[in-house]
Amino acid sequence: MLTYHIHITGLVQGVGFRPFVYQLAKKLNVTGWVNNTSDGVHVEINATEQSAKNFYEAVITKAPALSKITTHHIEKVNHTIYAAFTINESGVTATANLMLTPDFALCADCKKEMYDAANRRYQYPFITCTNCGPRYSIIHTLPYDRSNTSMQPFTMCKDCDEEYNNPNYRRHYSQTNSCSACGISLEIFSGTGEKLCSGYTTVIERIVAELTNKKIIAVKGIGGYLLLCDATSETVIKELRKRKHRPAKPFALLYPGISTIENDFNLSQQEKDCLQTVVAPIVLLKQKKAAVFNLPINEIAPGLASLGIMLPYAPLFELIVAAFKKPLIATSANIADSSIIYTDEGAMQELPSVADYIVTNNRAIVIAQDDSVIKFTPLHQQQIIIRRSRGIAPSFFGYNTNAAENIFAAGALLKSSFTFSCNNNVYISQYLGNTDSYEAQQAYEKTVAHFIQLFGQQPAIIVADKHHLYFATQFAVKMSEKNKVPLIQVQHHKAHAAAVLAENNLLRSKDPVLCVIWDGTGLGDDGNIWGGDFFMYQHNALQRCSYFDYFPVIAGDKMAKEPRLSVLAVCSGIAAAKEMLHHKFNETEWQLYSKMIENNPVILCSSVGRLFDAVASLLNLCDKQSYEGQAAMLLEETATAYFQQHGYKTLLSYFTQQQKEDNISTTNLFAGIITDIQNGVPKDIIAAKFHYSLVTIVAAIADKQQTKIIAFSGGVFQSSLLVDLLITFLGEKFQLHFHKDLSPNDENISFGQLVYFDNNMDDCKALHHI
Ligand SMILES: [Zn+2]
Ligand SMILES: [Zn+2]
Repeated sequence: MLTYHIHITGLVQGVGFRPFVYQLAKKLNVTGWVNNTSDGVHVEINATEQSAKNFYEAVITKAPALSKITTHHIEKVNHTIYAAFTINESGVTATANLMLTPDFALCADCKKEMYDAANRRYQYPFITCTNCGPRYSIIHTLPYDRSNTSMQPFTMCKDCDEEYNNPNYRRHYSQTNSCSACGISLEIFSGTGEKLCSGYTTVIERIVAELTNKKIIAVKGIGGYLLLCDATSETVIKELRKRKHRPAKPFALLYPGISTIENDFNLSQQEKDCLQTVVAPIVLLKQKKAAVFNLPINEIAPGLASLGIMLPYAPLFELIVAAFKKPLIATSANIADSSIIYTDEGAMQELPSVADYIVTNNRAIVIAQDDSVIKFTPLHQQQIIIRRSRGIAPSFFGYNTNAAENIFAAGALLKSSFTFSCNNNVYISQYLGNTDSYEAQQAYEKTVAHFIQLFGQQPAIIVADKHHLYFATQFAVKMSEKNKVPLIQVQHHKAHAAAVLAENNLLRSKDPVLCVIWDGTGLGDDGNIWGGDFFMYQHNALQRCSYFDYFPVIAGDKMAKEPRLSVLAVCSGIAAAKEMLHHKFNETEWQLYSKMIENNPVILCSSVGRLFDAVASLLNLCDKQSYEGQAAMLLEETATAYFQQHGYKTLLSYFTQQQKEDNISTTNLFAGIITDIQNGVPKDIIAAKFHYSLVTIVAAIADKQQTKIIAFSGGVFQSSLLVDLLITFLGEKFQLHFHKDLSPNDENISFGQLVYFDNNMDDCKALHHI
């Protein structure tokens, strides 16, 4: 008999790993111990060489479904005799080396127990087990043990304790274990802060009664408070829009079950599977013509054909929506567009202005997260992550760093996130909102502090955007000064390129890769605003090879909000446009903006995001947008309708001339669109031709650069239609690469910044004397 030590790292905590090892040891008749430390799971066993090999193999190959092993190692150690197999207390090691476990949606076993009148957790709204429940949202420090989470104040009752300690139960070592006798309490308050009632059944009955009365109720969920109201009532949704000051941005819906979703929406297998994973995200779906529930679509998602749908991932939401029997609007509880509210004090202070009632519980949320949002393109079922948050964040498995030192990458301004590497593991924070708001800035700072505390380590290198006015850049500058560590600044679109190259394993590509990076805005190396760029990636260097013609930036940030300003700027060189656009402005505005353009504006831009805005405005689909991306989405809907009716066939491109120059003429593009408008060509054809033209220009640049590999990043590639068209028309001739587990939008910037530095792209380390 010999003694062996096994060390496993990765996502191995909060997923039932220790009970699994225990069961396996019993089965294979092996003695020793297993524990949980801040650097992973350790196992020590007494075994012969052969039985140790069998045991080790079984641990790795049969590991719990929710776990993800990143490294594993076995070695012979000094012989110690163990009489039995035990689960030992957790330990803390000098360096934390663990992937953080995300929050898991309610599992089928727990759901069954919750509806079983004979079960002691019948209708208990905080039921969990080793296969489900909150993890990342409740953890204060590593390792993942009850005492390190916000479950700490709840002492298990005798029954729960027995389950916790019995290896034959599903809740063996389940850190979130509780029941109605020992667990979390539920309370409902009026908007004036008066406690109305408590007790699970009473509160849920009251919630359902008030939802029926067309009231808006804020309910504390997993990552924060959600606002719930009857999704079939136009009146209450109108009221919610008014109170939230949110005129048009779509709301997500919580449906009672997968069968009710199937009744109302066209579901592909991918969409159906995605809805039911442990992530339980919001999935964007198209409604059926003969839907069962009569939803006021135009109030829920004005002008859009897709709705955001999710299943109840928390047991409390399951009980509410099951009792209500109808879909609910379920939207992050916040004021206007600021961060999701997650503390009880915050809820009591802020939410009475939007909610009639507030439902709280006494388990604290440590880290706030919004719901994740995912969609699949209708034609090719390409997955597009719109928001990476609850259920997915923060661990990222697609990349390990080369550098020995820990890196912090600060991200961009809008759709912010940060990336932190520690022991070569990569963590990409959840979506942290638009850091132009004070609340989002606070959420950002708090989440960074949380990470540093969790891992007990400071970064040795800091990477940020080139734009010095971004909150994240300023944060990075301060952090670098405070920690006395180097700061490297990476151009926004190069970070996008690095992100998509890394995600698709193209960093070591022998053949050159064309990176097509299209988004709204990012500061370019020449001081202008970029956003319509092509880079060639070869030998670890990014070279900007093409871009859309610059057009003037007028009225600063206002331009992104008002598509009519984009069209005015882009068409400034086209005489026929004037008359078409004049009616969009009053006389004072017209004089003012015309003068701004005539006076040779200092800042120019090449943003494709603004081109979408400009076309949407030209077609009178949207002159002022009430949320980011609205104009582009309306334009996409119009074009999609055309392709769905007429088939995905080739059209005439607005780029009629052969692409010889590096710059791409936006004047040609818009002159063509204006001629079509003058000739009475219908909107849907123009919208379709515009999308198709973008595909042809990608092909033209790839041909010009003589490359067959193309990678895409930037917010523009959130468009299902554009992605489907690219795959349809270029998929055979070229190797196309899109983001898979990261969003194409600015959420991936922080990861790209880290990759750029870590791979010493463009020789950035030498340039910064590192
Ligand atoms: Zn469960
Ligand atoms: Zn209990």
